[in-house]
Amino acid sequence: MPRLAPIPSAEIQTRLLIGGKWVEGRDGGAIDIINPHDGSKIVAVSEARQVDVDLAVAAAREAAPGWARMAAHDRGRLLLKLADRIEADRDHLVRLEAMNTGHPVRDCINLDLPRTALCFRYFGGMADKLEGNVVPVDAGFLNYVEREPLGVVGQIVPWNFPMMFVSWKLGPALAAGNSVVIKPSEITPLSTLRIGELMLEVGFPPGVVNIVTGYGDTVGQHIAEHPGIDKVSFTGSTAVGRKIVQASAGNLKKVQLELGGKGPNIVFPDANIPAAVGGAAFAIFHNQGQACIAGSRLILHESIAAQFLEKFIALARSIRIGDPLDTDTELGPLTSKVHHERVLSYISVAREQGGEILSGGRVPPGDAFAKGYFVEPTIVRAAPGDRVSQEEVFGPFVTITTFREDDEALAIANGTAYGLGAGLWTSDISRAHRFAKNLHAGMVWINCYKRVHPASPFGGVGQSGYGREMGFEAMRDYTQPKSVWVNVDAKIPPFYPR
Ligand code: NAD
Repeated sequence: MPRLAPIPSAEIQTRLLIGGKWVEGRDGGAIDIINPHDGSKIVAVSEARQVDVDLAVAAAREAAPGWARMAAHDRGRLLLKLADRIEADRDHLVRLEAMNTGHPVRDCINLDLPRTALCFRYFGGMADKLEGNVVPVDAGFLNYVEREPLGVVGQIVPWNFPMMFVSWKLGPALAAGNSVVIKPSEITPLSTLRIGELMLEVGFPPGVVNIVTGYGDTVGQHIAEHPGIDKVSFTGSTAVGRKIVQASAGNLKKVQLELGGKGPNIVFPDANIPAAVGGAAFAIFHNQGQACIAGSRLILHESIAAQFLEKFIALARSIRIGDPLDTDTELGPLTSKVHHERVLSYISVAREQGGEILSGGRVPPGDAFAKGYFVEPTIVRAAPGDRVSQEEVFGPFVTITTFREDDEALAIANGTAYGLGAGLWTSDISRAHRFAKNLHAGMVWINCYKRVHPASPFGGVGQSGYGREMGFEAMRDYTQPKSVWVNVDAKIPPFYPR
């Protein structure tokens, strides 16, 4: 089978990027980066601590005024160059991402890398499109509103799509004229460091982007509470999101949160069943289910449930599990040992609560899977109130529930604390739009699932967070309005006539 070569450790960047230079952490710690395919160590990266965050913030503060003053189209041009450079580096980046995350390399080639380049390119084009406006106010006055950058932005990223999320975070923040301190997950920093190298190559000025690889409770926490940071953009779990909000209170920094999800995916009796089966499998099994927008709750009309499940189970069992660097692999390992244990523990929880495992539910048998963090595609019949139907499992693990009436489907779909992505499959246009309106979600997919594009706002409601990534919404979130009043020819009567 075609297996791509791993990147030799000597070619992997392992230091912090501060003020345009690659440096070791001041306190000298290191973090082992593990290959989830076999548990082996890839490299050790330098561990940032608070002192390194302080240095990174100082570098970003110094770079901020020059970057904000630069013509917007020049900022955009750097982002466009970066997009080209990322595409030229494809063979390196996709192998690095597959090694570090366990994503099948075919997904890195077909999805992660093109989406990363697309996002940088979109925001490169957007840099000089964000306009202010002129506001009709009292006679004799000109009032205009400019959108200005916030200053220094702190960005905290999870481990599930590290390469792509760098573009979601950096693209709009930089296009809008902010400088950045970014912290990748301590588990998956390698593609972020590689993109840092490419940014220096294409000519981003020193200090505009600083990368600190460190742990959440030290570096992440320090970013969230840092008085020199004007906004924190966080993607990760709802539990940590709460800590970010608390830590941000000191200097009242702006906060944007992209948190967990428990995506409902409803299949109506009039759906195109083969399309829904394929879409539902992509919705939950792509990236081993480690997606905040995964369609992790399948809600099937009882009249089509049997035929749907027969096809869905057959498809799940046919998914090729294997080495992420093998181009035939469709499902890789979970990204970390801790997470592997967590997902397996939910299989026990399902059983304890009376859930019926319809397929999967174990580590795939065989020596090939013994050392890695693999879990079979798992399909579980469960009640809507069961823990596995309410809590984010974040693995190749989908619950099945059936319904009779539309209202019942809506109640089940909206019956969690989350509200990120939701999908539905139907040929009834009125029903489709009625559900789109009534689903408690930031994103709704009709006859498709998990579509994302840098032009369309991404984010959630409820405990899935607030603020939006992508599109004009993101540009607005990374800027603040300034209202300027000019007395053109207003005759202002004296307030204190004397
Ligand atoms: P996590 O919350 O454990 O960690 C996310 C990031 O926060 C990491 O970089 C981590 O080091 C850092 N962190 C941890 N503790 C911190 C603290 N006290 N202060 C500051 N930073 C801290 O999440 P994870 O396990 O890396 O990622 C999985 C979670 O992310 C899932 O819940 C998933 O749904 C969510 N997610 C959400 C989106 C979205 O856009 N809504 C996208 C992807 C992932």
